[in-house]
Amino acid sequence: MLGSEVEHVTVFEAKPEDSSVGGHAVAIMGGMKIFEFIGLLEELIAVGFPIDKMTAMNTYGLELFDLLMHDIFRATKNPNLLSSPETGERPLAYFCSRGCVQKVLARGLAKDTFNKFVPREIQERTTVDLKYNCPVVHVHEYNTPNGKKVAIQFENNRVEDDFDIVLGCDGAQSKVKDYILQEAYAEDPDSDPRKDQLAFCGIRTSFTSTGPDPEFKLRKPRGPRQWYGDGIYAMEATVGGVNGPEHYLGISYASKEDAKMGENTKWGQGSNAMREELRKLLVAKGFGAHKEFMNIFDNTERLVELGIRANPRPLKTWHSKSSRVVLVGDSAHKM
Ligand SMILES: Cc1cc2nc3c(=O)[nH]c(=O)nc-3n(C[C@H](O)[C@H](O)[C@H](O)COP(=O)(O)OP(=O)(O)OC[C@H]3O[C@@H](n4cnc5c(N)ncnc54)[C@H](O)[C@@H]3O)c2cc1C
Repeated sequence: MLGSEVEHVTVFEAKPEDSSVGGHAVAIMGGMKIFEFIGLLEELIAVGFPIDKMTAMNTYGLELFDLLMHDIFRATKNPNLLSSPETGERPLAYFCSRGCVQKVLARGLAKDTFNKFVPREIQERTTVDLKYNCPVVHVHEYNTPNGKKVAIQFENNRVEDDFDIVLGCDGAQSKVKDYILQEAYAEDPDSDPRKDQLAFCGIRTSFTSTGPDPEFKLRKPRGPRQWYGDGIYAMEATVGGVNGPEHYLGISYASKEDAKMGENTKWGQGSNAMREELRKLLVAKGFGAHKEFMNIFDNTERLVELGIRANPRPLKTWHSKSSRVVLVGDSAHKM
């Protein structure tokens, strides 16, 4: 890949460009080092909300302990938890919406961010084309006189081919993974694919998020709070969103029933069933007494509900036999 020819990279994203990707948020700690590495730290810090202090509560309202995250990071001197001396050795703990992280990454491609660890002439030879609304349905390899190539099939039977390498960074429900595993099973007639399927592991998680609240009417500007209860754990936080700070609740709870796995973006306008179900659970678990928490919940605009799934055993492999199709990130992950 770092040869002398021009490199062309195409990124296919299933969602539309303006998608805020549901109510997800990410607490970015050591991972921010990567943003520094690719030259996007300043942009991420500008939109992120600092995790300077993390407070742990129980559902009776008792404050259990505070973690002074930024102070701890500063004191460790761990280079992965602080930005480099060039950027001021700042503690790297921020909360962002996933949509926000994706926007920063996409802008980084558009403005040709240069990574100081890769020779500039290689980066100048590399072009990147980001295509939204392209849900991949299937990938396959085929033979040519110059060796194997990879073809990608999209919805509506549209196909793009002639790729040298495909990286499947398409998350837990990866289509690229299907191709790699099918090939591996075909090689091993004794294997049973059913034994490797993701299985619900008894935990459901709902992510909820308000719209932008730049005046902090719904929640004071402060670090995240973690709530511990009987069979339930919640993270309450303000996160940097695409259009300003948003308030986020991540609610995980033990459940025998699998989630419906979907997103209800029309909470305010349409069905309230998911909201009501979750509200009842929160009240039963003691959150009804916590007005600010419930106020955030009641002003939530988006909800994503997931059943947490895990692979019963490690993936057989994370690359095709030719190594031209490779899994990256959550597609290769156990959960
Ligand atoms: C409940 C939960 C909480 C988490 N909390 C944190 C946290 O606080 N901090 C943290 O660092 N990590 C957290 N993680 C982990 C983190 O979110 C993931 O590890 C990370 O997002 C994985 O990145 P990825 O790019 O591999 O996959 P994803 O983030 O899932 O991205 C996959 C991308 O591929 C696209 N895509 C999917 N299918 C297709 C298709 N067929 N065709 C084209 N595009 C497709 C999707 O739209 C998406 O943009 C959490 C994970 C979970 C499940």
